[in-house]
Amino acid sequence: MTAMATKTPTVPAATNGAVSRVEHAPARWGLGDGAAIPWDYAPAPESREIVTIKEQYGLFIGGKDVAASDGQTFATVNPATEEPLAQVARGTAADMDKAVRAARSAFRRTWSRLSGKERAKYLFRIARLLQERSREFAVLESMDSGKPIKESRDVDVPLAAAHFWYYAGWADKLDYAFPGRVARPLGVAAQVIPWNFPLLMLAWKIAPALAAGNTVVLKPASTTPLSALLFADVCRQADLPPGVVNIVPGPGEVGMALISNPGVDKVAFTGSTEIGRKIFQGVAGSDKALTLELGGKAANIVFDDAPLDQAVEGIVNGIYFNQGEVCCAGSRLLAQESIVEPLIEKLKDRLSTIRVGDPLDKNTDVGAINSRSQLEKITELVAAGRAEGAEMYQPACDLPDRGYFFRPTLFTNVAQSHRIAREEIFGPVLSVLTFRTPEEAVEKANNTPYGLSAGIWTDKGSRILHMVRRMKAGVVWANTFNRFDPTSPFGGYKESGFGREGGMHGLHAYVRLEDR
Ligand code: NDP
Repeated sequence: MTAMATKTPTVPAATNGAVSRVEHAPARWGLGDGAAIPWDYAPAPESREIVTIKEQYGLFIGGKDVAASDGQTFATVNPATEEPLAQVARGTAADMDKAVRAARSAFRRTWSRLSGKERAKYLFRIARLLQERSREFAVLESMDSGKPIKESRDVDVPLAAAHFWYYAGWADKLDYAFPGRVARPLGVAAQVIPWNFPLLMLAWKIAPALAAGNTVVLKPASTTPLSALLFADVCRQADLPPGVVNIVPGPGEVGMALISNPGVDKVAFTGSTEIGRKIFQGVAGSDKALTLELGGKAANIVFDDAPLDQAVEGIVNGIYFNQGEVCCAGSRLLAQESIVEPLIEKLKDRLSTIRVGDPLDKNTDVGAINSRSQLEKITELVAAGRAEGAEMYQPACDLPDRGYFFRPTLFTNVAQSHRIAREEIFGPVLSVLTFRTPEEAVEKANNTPYGLSAGIWTDKGSRILHMVRRMKAGVVWANTFNRFDPTSPFGGYKESGFGREGGMHGLHAYVRLEDR
């Protein structure tokens, strides 16, 4: 911490069409001799030297780096600087077909013939390589996606490695996972993933698929292809047989070409509910297995007996982690009426300490929004919130001059009918609603087409159990939020999709069970 000075702090103007209301002096304005002394964190940038970003990346098909069939490429952009990072081959439907054939051939010739113990060796090797190259992955992920380095370093990459460790452990124990049954692999898995956790979503999908004996073709999101292409390098380094993993970046329609390819046996998708519906239609009528992990509008419910300081940390983690670009983000805070005022007071204080800025700075809490179009979507929904009569609060914090940044935002006076209370914003925007009784909390929490996650903050274990039974959400966190573990299943109800990832449930999605 540096920069001790005694000038009166100035309040920077908000950007992105938003207007700041500074009601609280930021906590970093310490007091000395009766005068405000502003201080701030010194820059602590992570070096980008660890990662070599190539000028051009190909598709990874059959263990080889190949150009797109029509030679086309697209640029992937650093959302914090708006500068292109690399050109990436833009896969076509023909490339997807080639990748599916490579995966089929690898399935028949090698992967499905290996024993579980042999498959496990490869998965353990991949896990170890992810750990060895973790800084490289973390820096690349933050540059390509905009997420803060402390999150890619401490959450995304270690969790991705943990998924490979965990499923490596199951590869030779399928008989114990499904007692009395014989677990057979499905064949070729088509996997389409989003941009909010590029490497982690890859691990959620690839690790259980390979452990169960399937081969895969994965399409990363167009704004974040680089960590998947670095993972291709890990596959080579691990000597994974060619064609077991294929990675084909390309636009949405190429994702559709992948999932509709007749050579595919299983489809796994994570992304928006809108595209999830199209995928459902694309798969309907075939005998492909399907799991969909879609959007959410989670309620984070705080009762009057909750420890408020801890709850504030959970609320902040619930909605500002990864810029709020999280399908299970706690984007609706339901606060019991008797504590709403002190809770909001504490929350505003806490918001004033959140650091928004360079994703590669180790002190950054909220990095860059993933793309210009996502920033526009957030800005539009925030404007709708104000127009519909909700009261907006944003802390006074400087935003970088370039890049796609948005201030942490808090809305009070929110009605259930407001768009900000109904639609998935996928940004650092919290809507506060209130309730009086547990029944009202349940009613409001479940009043959404989604059903992915929820949080409950209370001192009473009995109340947690009472609430959990009534919540229509795939995951309910109690006195914590946004905690993930490879052993724990994750997935939704209603428009949040179906099927589970993680744990033994995640393995189940990649096997066909037969009688002995
Ligand atoms: P999408 O659902 O469009 O993207 C997810 C993945 O699907 C990407 O790889 C995308 O490719 C691919 N895709 C897009 N269209 C198709 C298609 N027709 N067939 C097959 N695959 C397709 O999400 P967006 O990136 O467009 O984000 C839009 C909104 O979705 C966000 O604002 C957010 O609200 C929500 N979202 C929710 C996520 C979640 O986990 N719940 C994750 C991401 C977004 P490409 O990148 O090339 O378009």
